[in-house]
Amino acid sequence: MRLMPPLLSIDDALARVLARARPLEAESVPVAAAARRVLSEAVSARVDLPPFASSAMDGFAVRAADLPGRLPVVFRIAAGLPADRPLAPGEAMEISTGGAVPEGADAVVPIELVVEKDNKIEIADRLSAGAHVRSAGGDVRAGDVLLEAGTVLGAAQVGALAAAGVADVLCARRPAVVVLSTGTELRAPGAELGPGQIYESNGPMLAAAFETAGALVERIGPIPDDEESHRVALERGLAADVLVSSGGVSVGPHDLVRRILAELGAEEDFWGVAVRPGKPLAFGSRDATLVFGLPGNPVSSLVAVELFVRPALLALQGAMRPGPLYESGRLASALARNAARDELVRARTRDGAGEAMLEPLTGQESHMIARAAAADALVLVPAGGGELPAGERVRYLRLG
Ligand code: AMP
Ligand code: MG
Repeated sequence: MRLMPPLLSIDDALARVLARARPLEAESVPVAAAARRVLSEAVSARVDLPPFASSAMDGFAVRAADLPGRLPVVFRIAAGLPADRPLAPGEAMEISTGGAVPEGADAVVPIELVVEKDNKIEIADRLSAGAHVRSAGGDVRAGDVLLEAGTVLGAAQVGALAAAGVADVLCARRPAVVVLSTGTELRAPGAELGPGQIYESNGPMLAAAFETAGALVERIGPIPDDEESHRVALERGLAADVLVSSGGVSVGPHDLVRRILAELGAEEDFWGVAVRPGKPLAFGSRDATLVFGLPGNPVSSLVAVELFVRPALLALQGAMRPGPLYESGRLASALARNAARDELVRARTRDGAGEAMLEPLTGQESHMIARAAAADALVLVPAGGGELPAGERVRYLRLG
């Protein structure tokens, strides 16, 4: 039976994938190594931030009520070197940015507003109490939630955790992903190409994509289109958290992936999504292992990654918003719509009046990975008649 079943919509297919992607168990991760990881539990600040009232400027700590005036400089405070006594009325202490504002002081006069002579400073201006003082706990209070469970840690989050005194965090373990390339025609880059052969590009491409989604990737293949090779390689892949195969899921006589997967006990959840490119996508599972059979055409598999596999990997790590996260922009030029299938069109973004303008690229066929390499966006063109005119507002996915 070579006919495809009715195609699922992108949303239905995604819902089925996410329904099976249950969070993996958590492990402790040093904050310095936690970039791209996903928090398994909310994290609270260990200390007030800032931990003490500190100066926002290089200048002099004073009592606002003493200004304007001429004040003796009784101590010189640096960051990490606080004063050894409180500030008394009528006194000033030199202070650096980040220095602890001494007890008794309630403002910092910036150095630019001060004339210093003979260990005394003259200040002509007034200051309000609190000026240039960062209050203790003004950023976050000890015990307050700093980051919620399900947060994907980026640079700012790693910085906030470290600042708040957090050394280790609980994150879902990284999903183990096997990327399996199938195709008798495939050769590794660097080898000589024989007649009818091409370089294998999906393996490296998929591995690169999954690593940015937090996965630990093992690559297998390329393997030839014979049953025994498929059996061995697919069985190995089924030991991972996620098995992603490339190629061999269409209707040709050498497309073996789905049949061998079924023999190995994997249950197919769906095959075929109403999307262009990427229609012959298979998804299923065996026990806790998720299985994606991606089409071999490189651009098809790239699209399937962004629509389904990346969200699955993030959901396995418990991400609050596994995506795909669409952004909004405007078409720079008109695009014809496909009557039956939603389409993801490779495009380049440019800035237009504060809004992303999306310029569709020429060469949209699903084998054209070199053309796709110029794209930084996938524009979603909903199925329908006619065309989307230039200037139309569209949703798009950013390509990393
Ligand atoms: P398939 O899905 O196996 O029918 O393959 C569809 C097209 O994608 C064919 O032109 C294949 O040669 C090509 N293809 C399959 N796998 C890869 C791969 N790993 N790298 C590059 N091209 C591939
Ligand atoms: Mg093939």
